[in-house]
Amino acid sequence: MSEPDNPKTAQHLKAACKERYARQILLPQIGSKGQQALGKSSVLIAGAGGLGSISSLYLAAAGVGHIIIADHDHVEESNLNRQLLHSETSLGIEKVKSAANRLQELNSSIKITPVQKKLNAKNIDLLVKKIDIIVDACDNYKTRQILNRASIRHDIPFIFGGVQGFNGMVSCFIPGRTPCFECIVKPPKNKIDKGIIGAVAGITASIQTMETIKLLLNIGSRADRLENRLLKISGLDMKIKSISLEPDPDCRVCKHINCK
Ligand SMILES: [Zn+2]
Repeated sequence: MSEPDNPKTAQHLKAACKERYARQILLPQIGSKGQQALGKSSVLIAGAGGLGSISSLYLAAAGVGHIIIADHDHVEESNLNRQLLHSETSLGIEKVKSAANRLQELNSSIKITPVQKKLNAKNIDLLVKKIDIIVDACDNYKTRQILNRASIRHDIPFIFGGVQGFNGMVSCFIPGRTPCFECIVKPPKNKIDKGIIGAVAGITASIQTMETIKLLLNIGSRADRLENRLLKISGLDMKIKSISLEPDPDCRVCKHINCK
């Protein structure tokens, strides 16, 4: 959070922040120290669609100091069943512009950096240089590969989230501590059906956000977090499974890192 020049304004802002975050500061796991830590944190949200809509709103509301949100698409009508950052007035405009407007409306005391780019192996390094966590909010395997490899190169946690139909999946991939995304998820053989119920993106992204905040503040043990676990959510029969993960000994991406 940037410090204003006028000390009176600074005091006023401090009081306003205290009021805004009062309900989470009350939590012993967060408190004033945790709130300050959130204010100093930076997160990259890769995608301003169904998952990115919810994770960015909750992270902005929680007071994460700097949110970089990247997406190259424009808002279309078929997005509006799940991409709650956007509205009818945003149709046709860049998703990141629509996102930045909405997030800044929600919380003007944090910094939002919209990045109107398709992420690739070249531009990702600059984006993740000074961030603490990568939040996966994309919709394709190739971009996840790029994020996974950047996470390993820069030693940054990667919060994976995937949705399809009524189903969602979440895991925390942490270099040196867990398998990586490519140990666990292999490239799809068939074309993926794009049908989705909006609420499953909401559930999945909310769990990703919980894990992001827990990691940023080091809340709970590794077992409490989704480290070495894949959470599978089935919205149709409302069953949630936690599956233990092992690194793939043949994974070429993280094999130089000792998973423990
Ligand atoms: Zn791996």
